[in-house]
Amino acid sequence: MSVPVHDPNCLFCKIALGQIPSRKVYEDDDIVGFHDIHPWAPVHFLLIPRQHVPSLAQVTEAHAALLGRMLVLAPQLALQEGCKPYPDGGHRVVINTGREGGQEVHHLHVHVMGGPRPWLKG
Ligand code: AMP
Ligand code: ZN
Repeated sequence: MSVPVHDPNCLFCKIALGQIPSRKVYEDDDIVGFHDIHPWAPVHFLLIPRQHVPSLAQVTEAHAALLGRMLVLAPQLALQEGCKPYPDGGHRVVINTGREGGQEVHHLHVHVMGGPRPWLKG
């Protein structure tokens, strides 16, 4: 991917750039993974593209490989972070999109949640 585009006012762009601290679970040239600051589940981390994409509503065919990689990473990192394997363990993958979709941070992110129940939410 070419040089990522950032929004200087975006919280997750700042995390991607290391301007705001986070507890990283993964990073490469295109994707950053870090623990959610208010976890709903024993394991709860977020995967974001380094480039600023506001939400799933803005993705195009050009983002297909990036989104695919994020989904391929989700189960691998869930295991790395302590989720038990499928089918007894597993994890939940959520992409909140827009206000009615429950999105609060407007930089595309994939929630990955797992671990023993009960969870705080969901
Ligand atoms: P959403 O409601 O899908 O937009 O989720 C945004 C998520 O970002 C929430 O689960 C927040 O707890 C999480 N969050 C907000 N600020 C931070 C931060 N500085 N570091 C890690 N996670 C954060
Ligand atoms: Zn951003």
